[in-house]
Amino acid sequence: MKIYNTLSRRKEEFVPQDPNEVKIYSCGPTVYSFAHIGNMRTYVFMDSLRRVLRHEGYTLKHVMNVTDVGHLTSDADDGDDKMEKAAKKEQKSPYEIADFYAKAFFKDLARLNIDRPEIIAKATEHIDGMIDYVVGLCDKGYGYETSDGIYFDIAKFPGYGKLSRARLDEQLAGGSERVAVNDEKHNPADFALWKKAPKEHIMQWPSPWGMGYPGWHIECSEMSREYLGDLLDIHTGGVDHIPIHHENEIAQSEALIGKKTVNYWMHGEFLLVDGGKMSKSLGNTYTVDTLIERGYSPLAFRYFCLNGHYRNKLNFTWAALDAAQTALNRLYETLLVHKNAPDTEITDTVPGEGRYSDMNVMDAWKKEFEYAISDDLNIPLAMSVVWKALRYKTPNRKIYDFVLSLDDILGLDLEKGTAEAELKAQEKKEEEEEELKETIPAEILALSEERMIAKKEKRYADADALRAKIAELGYKVTDTKDGPVITKE
Ligand code: AMP
Ligand code: ZN
Repeated sequence: MKIYNTLSRRKEEFVPQDPNEVKIYSCGPTVYSFAHIGNMRTYVFMDSLRRVLRHEGYTLKHVMNVTDVGHLTSDADDGDDKMEKAAKKEQKSPYEIADFYAKAFFKDLARLNIDRPEIIAKATEHIDGMIDYVVGLCDKGYGYETSDGIYFDIAKFPGYGKLSRARLDEQLAGGSERVAVNDEKHNPADFALWKKAPKEHIMQWPSPWGMGYPGWHIECSEMSREYLGDLLDIHTGGVDHIPIHHENEIAQSEALIGKKTVNYWMHGEFLLVDGGKMSKSLGNTYTVDTLIERGYSPLAFRYFCLNGHYRNKLNFTWAALDAAQTALNRLYETLLVHKNAPDTEITDTVPGEGRYSDMNVMDAWKKEFEYAISDDLNIPLAMSVVWKALRYKTPNRKIYDFVLSLDDILGLDLEKGTAEAELKAQEKKEEEEEELKETIPAEILALSEERMIAKKEKRYADADALRAKIAELGYKVTDTKDGPVITKE
């Protein structure tokens, strides 16, 4: 299996430390408001990674954090604390806020068939570990104290910037305006490990530096190490994390541990809305609830995400979601046709000169699907293989079974969706029959009934006479295996 490593900017063969178990850490949500569909795209990517790794035979030890403390509105350590701001606005305690939005987040994951990582780590439950971490960094000379907190000195860490390929000398010289906010910092890009809390700050804990609360980045360094040890196989997040959050995680972790702490860095690209950024002021920070309110199924959004590669930007529009819903419905309906078709061997082979030429078509579909998912999670290519199979020239039960077997990767509820499509088709048929009945006069229905009784009693002459009478009144009776069908002549 190949995955693209942001650190090397290359696709690399994936080799976990333990041949059976993969250690993954994913940056999770800050639970101060509802997650939007952009966040959800990143977790659909995380879920595809989980599913493909499991399909490849690995068991997973996967940790995701829930940030329920101290994440400032700006990544650069100034601005308000997001949790505190929400708590004040909603007049609740930060713990109530975090609990409410964490529950909503996990509900959204479930609605999108996103697997829950094995371990969910809450920041507020790991404060002691974070303090120890910061003490460790200070002992090693990487941390220094100012009047408002403990900062990481990036000048002491020569590798700073290697993930985003930003140059340390530029960062050190950097004339960023926000420096002015804190002129005690040695360098503009130095970041807070720990913040001293003003009295009115609601969330605060005792520390060697007085009451305070942790910086955002230290959370991930500490909790990933606590559960997964010094070296992770894979670390995931959205691309916005590359230049600051993950750069800072690398600095903290490598400074403390003394060597590389992550083998593969993976980042999901952004979801755009109408070609631009999502923002509260534009009113386009849609949530899973918004999709449902507008009549779409959450899985239509999942389907929409699966059709874009995780490393490409994806543009959300309502028209695109509409198309995804239509395609997903058609996927279920086409599966239904194959489900009810004969189960016969498919013996034809792939024509032409390509990679799969002369191979049995079913074997070729399987191979192509496997190739796609193991090539840096090329789920869009895998989806095209699904459609190729579904468009096979004749319906065949084997195609239903094959496509269903791929749902461990796709997570589109294919079996359930097909069953629902079947129910819908049946209801539609019944409705049509009902409608027909309504338009046929009672007198004709009665005559038809009489004719059926005559037939049953083998009074065929009577039956023929009744048919003739029905015909005289302008209707035609056709006998089918399901009984007589009456149509207007
Ligand atoms: P946050 O709760 O803001 O820390 O974000 C949670 C996750 O969503 C992070 O991994 C972000 O990188 C990711 N994210 C934020 N905005 C978007 C977006 N527009 N598209 C995709 N992922 C996003
Ligand atoms: Zn993180």
